[in-house]
Amino acid sequence: MRELYADVIVDISHEKLDKPFQYRVPERLRDKLETGMCVTVPFGSGNKPLQGYVVALGEECKFDPARTKDILGMAEKGVDVEDRLIALAAWIRKNYGSTMIQALKTVLPAKQSVKRLEHRTVERAMGREEMISLLGESGRRRQVAKERLLRELLEQESIPYEWVTGKLGVSAQTVKSLEQAGAVRVVSRECFRDPVELEDGGEQRKELSDGQRTVVREVLADVDAGTPGVYLLHGITGSGKTEVYLELIEKVVERGRQAVVLIPEIALTYQTLLRFYRRFGNRVSVMNSTLSPGQKYDQCQRARQGDIDVIIGPRSALFTPFPNIGIIVMDEEHEGSYKSESSPKYHARETAMEVARLHGAAVVLGSATPSVEAYYRAKRGEYRLFTLKERLTGGSLPTVYTVDLRQELREGNRSIFSRKLQELLSDRLSKGEQSILFLNRRGYAGFVSCRACGHVMKCPHCDVSLSEHRGGRLMCHYCGHSQPKPARCPECGSGYISGFRAGTQQIEEKLREMFPGVRCLRMDGDTTRTKDSYRQILSAFAGGEADVLIGTQMIVKGHDFPGVTLVGVLAADLSLGAGDYRAGERTFQLLTQAVGRAGRGELPGEAVIQTYQPEHYAVVHAAAQDYEGFYEEEIVYREILGYPPVAHMLAVQVFSGVEERGGQLAARLAGAVREAFPDEAGEPWGGGGRKAPIRLIGPAPASIEKLNDIFRFVFYVKCPEYDKLIEIKDLAERKLQEWQTADTVQFDFDPMNTL
Ligand code: ADP
Ligand code: ZN
Ligand code: ZN
Repeated sequence: MRELYADVIVDISHEKLDKPFQYRVPERLRDKLETGMCVTVPFGSGNKPLQGYVVALGEECKFDPARTKDILGMAEKGVDVEDRLIALAAWIRKNYGSTMIQALKTVLPAKQSVKRLEHRTVERAMGREEMISLLGESGRRRQVAKERLLRELLEQESIPYEWVTGKLGVSAQTVKSLEQAGAVRVVSRECFRDPVELEDGGEQRKELSDGQRTVVREVLADVDAGTPGVYLLHGITGSGKTEVYLELIEKVVERGRQAVVLIPEIALTYQTLLRFYRRFGNRVSVMNSTLSPGQKYDQCQRARQGDIDVIIGPRSALFTPFPNIGIIVMDEEHEGSYKSESSPKYHARETAMEVARLHGAAVVLGSATPSVEAYYRAKRGEYRLFTLKERLTGGSLPTVYTVDLRQELREGNRSIFSRKLQELLSDRLSKGEQSILFLNRRGYAGFVSCRACGHVMKCPHCDVSLSEHRGGRLMCHYCGHSQPKPARCPECGSGYISGFRAGTQQIEEKLREMFPGVRCLRMDGDTTRTKDSYRQILSAFAGGEADVLIGTQMIVKGHDFPGVTLVGVLAADLSLGAGDYRAGERTFQLLTQAVGRAGRGELPGEAVIQTYQPEHYAVVHAAAQDYEGFYEEEIVYREILGYPPVAHMLAVQVFSGVEERGGQLAARLAGAVREAFPDEAGEPWGGGGRKAPIRLIGPAPASIEKLNDIFRFVFYVKCPEYDKLIEIKDLAERKLQEWQTADTVQFDFDPMNTL
């Protein structure tokens, strides 16, 4: 029998010990030892026994077998919280590629000297009448932050301090000046109190609808049977998903287990948070980016000690050291922010499933527009799919008009505003109702298209949009294919072929020209340099301070504007032209979300989608709010070209201070991969047959070729088997070690964006 060796990390608090040490696994432990387990090993020349964690097992001895020491023993205790997190770090390292220390830092809270944490709340200190008059005064003086806080306090007697300075974006100074004026009181308590307790003593329970009840019943049955699975809850906003989460979590907590609720930070509203507080009181805690490391550590301690049952937060909430997680909820499952942008580039969805596996927990994914990945797995029976169809709050879906911009051009309208949009805007302005104008610039990569016929220049090999580069060449960011920019449209011969240029500022100018005196707010990268300004704009608009809000994708998420009855999407093409395979999916999601912004209140809404490609399936199905129809077409495209989720895709990204050296390294790495894993024709991508095809694409300069003086190159490998891609990553890591390169290489599995 061959020997078994274990890589052991010895002391995780030491930065120095980034590398694992290898030990032999003695015969008696062979069948018991698994990655992530805690072991005792002899360390150093004195063979001092130390605790360590197994991070990998294998048959290959990396050093001198004669000098490799034996593991002394396995820790007797059961798996504890920390062991699970270590095992998770090992899994993340293996599946996403990073150093073990990076992975450990991702999952373990940095140890901090914790001051005794006090929880503060800001409370109302004057009568309502007085407060209202103070509110009016602040309004006249344009003290927006003050106004915002006062307005919130009129509705809610007491608000957590972190929320005031965090989400509400009110500075400590402003709070202080209001305190001095006798309007508010800042109260410190030793532990977090339920901010709602003071108010109305709990929420009225909703009688669940049949659809909701089915989900709760089925998930719980699986949990109780010890066979929890993954569930996808597909339902439009307002269809009662959150209510289902609350109910499920309550039942799981009753069984003595804990719950993790993932919500993208941008989508977490105070309203949602209140619902959790009302249900779980001070047994719930929120994690967000405004917490200091000390506060985060304190929260982890509370979780470890059993002081809380529920944690709400962005993807890192997954690493809360709960002893026995029973359920993980992932709301807005399709959101790109669930993927980490720094190494290890883990995705919270798959990581949640690994956490759930370690705990025996259920995973509930929720979305109005599920990711193609999740829906694909649900269709294949890997996840269980539940659909909630009705909106429980009333309010109907808006009427959608798709406007063909080619037609507008033919009929002599060269403005950014179609005639339909102009007409509806003027109608809203005359009625005093609000409108949103949306420019979906996300992933915008300078694509080139024809304004006469809508033709988009695409890569002949990858079927993604080409983007315009230095010297007027068009380039594909997957395979590096490049061609000159044509002077005339290859489709219709017109000269209207060019890069698409339209900015929010330009739109604002045109709007003011068209409707003099219009009250308009703009939200984009320029106007939201700080978190505070972002909130200020949203709250000003919600407060009715403007008729029109113009913005990029930032405005379609999270915040609810009941006063909005018209949404205009200025050019759906912008996100369609992003040079990556998710462009259609993103466009569908953004359009669906944008359209859904109209008519959330009592008045019915309308939406206008302007586009040069009215026949594009992402546009057609978003206009019809038809997810299923979109999915059916999208998955065919993925199948034909072997894009995820049908196959998996690994991006190998090379960063170098020297252009030539970076390019060479990328080419050399790609060569090594090609040699070890030649492209194989194999079966069709989705076939799941005997031979899985592998295809290497590139290398090519990244879409942003140079950032902060660092040159960036990338190549992609596609293969239906994830494990093959892990092997390729391991091979690349070995080669890099062998070559001793000064440049950085990162791995991105199933990337969300092109580099
Ligand atoms: P989602 O999370 O899908 O957007 P929510 O759970 O927030 O949906 O529900 C939308 C609204 O409907 C909320 O105001 C909620 O209180 C209400 N609601 C949810 N479930 C029910 C129910 N069974 N009966 C009545 N109202 C409900
Ligand atoms: Zn054309
Ligand atoms: Zn290409």
